[in-house]
Amino acid sequence: MSDWVQELHSSIHTAEQLENHITLTPEERAGLENIEGTFNWGISPYYASLMDPDDPSCPVRRQVVPRIEEMHDELGVWDPLKEEDHSPVENLIHVYPDRVAFCISSICPTFCRFCLRKRMVETFGNSISEENLQEGYEYIRNTPAIRDVLLTGGDPLLMPDERIEEIVGKIHEIPHVQLVRIGSRSPCTLPSRITDELCERLARYQPFWINTHFNHPKELTPEAVAACGRIVDHGIPMGNQTVLLKGVNDSAAVLKELGERLVAARVRPYYLYQCQVLKGTAHFRVEVERGVQFMRELRGRTSGFAIPQYVLDTPYGKVPLNYQYMRKREGDHVVLETFSGKIWREPNPVCTPCKA
Ligand code: SF4
Repeated sequence: MSDWVQELHSSIHTAEQLENHITLTPEERAGLENIEGTFNWGISPYYASLMDPDDPSCPVRRQVVPRIEEMHDELGVWDPLKEEDHSPVENLIHVYPDRVAFCISSICPTFCRFCLRKRMVETFGNSISEENLQEGYEYIRNTPAIRDVLLTGGDPLLMPDERIEEIVGKIHEIPHVQLVRIGSRSPCTLPSRITDELCERLARYQPFWINTHFNHPKELTPEAVAACGRIVDHGIPMGNQTVLLKGVNDSAAVLKELGERLVAARVRPYYLYQCQVLKGTAHFRVEVERGVQFMRELRGRTSGFAIPQYVLDTPYGKVPLNYQYMRKREGDHVVLETFSGKIWREPNPVCTPCKA
């Protein structure tokens, strides 16, 4: 049995097991007692080792240990992006004309408390059925507009190597598919899963990308950085998505350090997601205006490519959430605000046809 499978078998699924790692607070204990039957939970031994045993505000701990606040969320819904309404085939989400997300796994090494797919994700469970897979391939084959396929879940990398390669290979051979991507949090929550053998197999299907998910600099341990390094060393580019979470990363300083350390690990910060109005996540949500302010504080103060695009995902696609640097037009100039607040008037004559 490989190391990572062995590690998964020792995952934490009971309060007693969790107490071997941390001293539970009353809120966490009540969370564990009350969420059963409503929300799943589970933590890989590796990710648990990153939690501060005595500090309930530890950003790693907040992401994965259930709290009673999850049961008090009047606004949250189970499927805020209405993904099920956008699924022509079960588990295949088609929102943009040229892209689909295919949820091929319902298993994750660690169950994030803010997971968008918590309605379908399990810590122990099944991957997609063969019949569902075939329906997905057929839909992609019959839809020539699709050029980009994201394999997601759950975490597709919890499948055996051969199975992942078979699925990636089948999609890769569809003539109009230009790009296959996998979304996986394993580099962050189970870095032992990222073996050289897995990377070698995936690198055969270029262009191939991996999108991962780090939310806090504390997660960028030597093990996680080495896992990302193995992927990149095999010629697979990596992007990172982060969810903006109250009490985890809701400050410009934390986002700056995260972006810079991701870049140092050769992972490009890609999206910063506004936390969805998802059941059980009221205590994580940050006001959009604060998120925009963090982005404003980052601009000009770190490398541009260390700054992700802040977005709100909606049932109709992602909406960029940007600070408005373009103030106004003044005659043949456009008035801009620079990162430091200085105003710049850029010549920008209106072209004659437009004047007409
Ligand atoms: S790793 Fe991703 S899919 Fe899995 S529980 Fe976390 S957010 Fe959800």
